[in-house]
Amino acid sequence: MIKNYNYLIVGSGLFGATFAYKAKQSGKSCLVIDKRPHLGGNVFCEQIEGINVHKYGAHIFHTSNKEVWNFVNSLVPFNRYTNCPVANYHGELYNLPFNMNTFCQMWQDVKTPADAMAKIHEQRTEAAAKIGGLEPRNLEEQALLLVGRDIYTKLIKEYTEKQWGRDCKELPAFIIRRLPLRFVFDNNYFNDLYQGIPIGGYNALINKLMEGVETKTNCDFFQKYKDSWREIADQLVYTGPIDEYFNFQLGRLDWRTVTFKTRIENTPNYQGNAVINYTSHEVPYTRIIEHKHFETFGQAVYENPKTVISEEFSTEYKPGMEQFYPVNDERNNALADQYRALAANEQNVIFGGRLAEYRYYDMAPIIEKVLNLELQ
Ligand code: FAD
Ligand code: UDP
Repeated sequence: MIKNYNYLIVGSGLFGATFAYKAKQSGKSCLVIDKRPHLGGNVFCEQIEGINVHKYGAHIFHTSNKEVWNFVNSLVPFNRYTNCPVANYHGELYNLPFNMNTFCQMWQDVKTPADAMAKIHEQRTEAAAKIGGLEPRNLEEQALLLVGRDIYTKLIKEYTEKQWGRDCKELPAFIIRRLPLRFVFDNNYFNDLYQGIPIGGYNALINKLMEGVETKTNCDFFQKYKDSWREIADQLVYTGPIDEYFNFQLGRLDWRTVTFKTRIENTPNYQGNAVINYTSHEVPYTRIIEHKHFETFGQAVYENPKTVISEEFSTEYKPGMEQFYPVNDERNNALADQYRALAANEQNVIFGGRLAEYRYYDMAPIIEKVLNLELQ
């Protein structure tokens, strides 16, 4: 029987789109389907008032991998955006990530790196004594050992509990190790060599990846192709949730989801920065994103008299919502391992991406993974 496609790709996010690009370059045919009404997965942007609005949350591309950086720039040039979020705690403003600017704002008597190190050393020693010199067992212990109680209290504890809906003592330590700590005046949120936003927004990148590829939106794999895909394609690339693929037979994985309240403001510059985190419980959202600042800099901000902002609310996932972040606690990691074992036995199916691997991937590692895959 002659099949129509070498690959049926479920999901048009960065994993599916990069896979489709690579397949096309290798002379393979593919069909990409997505249940959403648009392509691009979570990097999709919606144009409002001439501004690219990150519909599924702020996305900043960053990597130290030159191959990945050259690859994406060969498709679309990237701008010079550097993520420098600011934290608002009960009206007090602090630069992020934790660096000399933060330390000077936190402690009036800190002016030099030596002052800051002494202050943090004192608080780290106190934290280490509290856990008897043992390894940190959870996010709270890890954060106290990294930055001490003042920063933990004002900038980490309540924000993290809002974001994850769990006490910091119930969360894994690795989540907080993502954040840099520096004794220099440097507000760049990432340590990576390369960073930016595609000029023209992420849709430009997705459109380039998908050029010449057959696609269908509003098309749910489980309704349309689950039982019949082998009739049309040699292989399946599945980027949806792994538990759903197996009909939740071992139980449901937990996810965090994010909802957005987006509105237009009649001012050219609402908050002066793309990202402001609200780190106290008092404010119900975790952060406000002002989208124009991802792509417009300096005086150009004032050329558009309006702006678009989104308040981000983090909540527990319930069936019917969008899955955003995997919850990497013990129960979920063990369950995901069981699903991965089932996946390893599926013939001619590649499971890839954040949902199908149940891993907290950034964009660049997703692209790197696909670039390193060997197509058969
Ligand atoms: P997705 O983009 O989720 O794509 C999966 C696609 O599969 C979706 O379009 C979905 O509709 C489709 N699908 C699922 N099930 C089916 C089905 N049954 N039938 C058809 N289609 C289906 N990374 C960074 O590098 N920098 C950042 O600043 C950053 N910020 C983020 C902020 C938030 C709020 C979130 C949640 C993630 C962020 N990320 C960031 C991570 C980034 O979004 C991911 O690494 C990347 O988008 C994952 O791509 P993917 O293709 O695996 O998944
Ligand atoms: N975090 C925090 N305060 C902040 C920003 C982040 O405590 O102002 C913590 C929080 O636990 C979060 C983790 O650091 O889950 C990683 O933050 P990052 O911004 O990398 O998360 P993202 O939103 O990109 O997933």
